[in-house]
Amino acid sequence: MSATIELLEVATGDIRHIPAGDTTPELLEFRWVEGSHSCDCNREVEWHRAHGLTSPFKGEPCTTGRYLVRITCDGDVILDEHPPQPKETDMKPTEQQMTDFVEHMRAAGQQRVAAERIAQLEARVAQALVAIGIMRTEMCPSFDHLDELEKTLKGDQ
Ligand SMILES: [Zn+2]
Repeated sequence: MSATIELLEVATGDIRHIPAGDTTPELLEFRWVEGSHSCDCNREVEWHRAHGLTSPFKGEPCTTGRYLVRITCDGDVILDEHPPQPKETDMKPTEQQMTDFVEHMRAAGQQRVAAERIAQLEARVAQALVAIGIMRTEMCPSFDHLDELEKTLKGDQ
């Protein structure tokens, strides 16, 4: 039997391979689900031992969830506590999604340009109305006012 034991340290995301030894899938499953390796105590020791390190474990209160295991026997996953990994297909947008996105951005850009243009035109109309109002109320159109009106209506800055 060929078994792979991948032990994930949740805090670091680091996965280490634990030697399975000569055993059976049933024994492996029992050991890691209900037996001596079902909690973090022995898992922490194994995780450090896998790289020749001494575990810092000193008999702290028993916990679970800090070390998660995935065991594969002869190609079959018999135990998987690891969080699901995002598949490459989940991250890559489809051609249709890319087309939709580009279309969306183009439409949004056109809307923004149109809105800016409308705002510019509205501002010019407002300036023209102010200039005309001044001429009307003063009844003595100065050259300054006429120049301003002319510039405004032409759109010169
Ligand atoms: Zn324990």
